[in-house]
Amino acid sequence: MLTEHSSARRQWIHESIRRIEADGNRSADTHLFSVPLPQDWGIDLYLKDESTHRTGSLKHRLARSLFLYALVNGDIHEDSTIVEASSGSTAVSEAYFASLLGLKFIAVMAKTTSPEKIALIENYGGTCAFVESPGEVYAKAAELAEATGGHYMDQFTFAERATDWRGNNNIANSIFDQMRLEPHPIPAWIVVGAGTGGTSATIGRYLRYHRHATNLAVVDPENSVFYSSWAGTESPSSQSGSRIEGIGRARLEPSFVPGVIDAMIQVPDRASIAAMQHLKSLTGIAAGPSTGTNLWGVWGIIANMLENGERGSVVTLLCDPGERYTCTYYDDEWLASKGLAPRDEVARIENFLATGTW
Ligand SMILES: *Cc1c(COP(=O)(O)O)cnc(C)c1O
Repeated sequence: MLTEHSSARRQWIHESIRRIEADGNRSADTHLFSVPLPQDWGIDLYLKDESTHRTGSLKHRLARSLFLYALVNGDIHEDSTIVEASSGSTAVSEAYFASLLGLKFIAVMAKTTSPEKIALIENYGGTCAFVESPGEVYAKAAELAEATGGHYMDQFTFAERATDWRGNNNIANSIFDQMRLEPHPIPAWIVVGAGTGGTSATIGRYLRYHRHATNLAVVDPENSVFYSSWAGTESPSSQSGSRIEGIGRARLEPSFVPGVIDAMIQVPDRASIAAMQHLKSLTGIAAGPSTGTNLWGVWGIIANMLENGERGSVVTLLCDPGERYTCTYYDDEWLASKGLAPRDEVARIENFLATGTW
């Protein structure tokens, strides 16, 4: 027999899903910008601008998927506190959805998280709990969820399975839709980074399921174990954690799916910053550092295509906006203090665009 209690719970779940769907229904898709390249190359580059989501990053998609997944699984209720381990962007987006559903939200983050992100989480009514080192976030989040009787969202486990990779409004679906009228509608390459690995898993599975010829490249920063685990080489011993916010992990995350990746590219941190700075000077677009990592990978791939006389299109992501990093990656003194100030990397990109030689 149905109890009154269980039917009230079911009603709350229905209403919560309606709120999330209605929010999505009121939202527009993100833009796919064309980035100018020398015409005679016959290669087109596109930037999917994920910074224009309501909560400013590609984590808006993930947070939405994780909330829907937890709701349909019966994992969250009217009185649940939502807890998440995050390097910041996911927490910003989850704080937004928690507030949409009237739920308490706690973000567990390393104490080095940028003040701009902390302010955004608090703006959406979330609270922040800090740990000394990034490796401590998982245990602390589980502990807080336990103590509050809440739900640990656990993006690093569930990102790969919360999104429907077959395509109904996922990022891959949107990219292919928006490419339809382009000269090369099926990209030769899609280039993304990996934090949870959720985006690469969704795109890689989508490509295979739809039998597209597109290759998926994943770029990986210093101090991350993703590259070595994919390549089957020894992991970096450093436990210092990634210096590129949003991507690169010191732990091999369960939601990272190596089998769907066609190529991985290691990108030095200074090169990521250089490519981020170069994008700003080329297009006026200020993006976060993980977008720079994507672009450094893109320049290498395009150089390869040129060398092999290939024509086609390449798509990558603008993951989040530079305004989140005015006190960090957009501050020259901060960059110098972290040893991240580019040397000749910006000139190398400029020279490549002028001569086609990488
Ligand atoms: C999370 C994140 C990524 C990587 O996306 P995943 O789907 O988690 O692998 C890249 N850039 C930024 C800014 C992010 O927050």
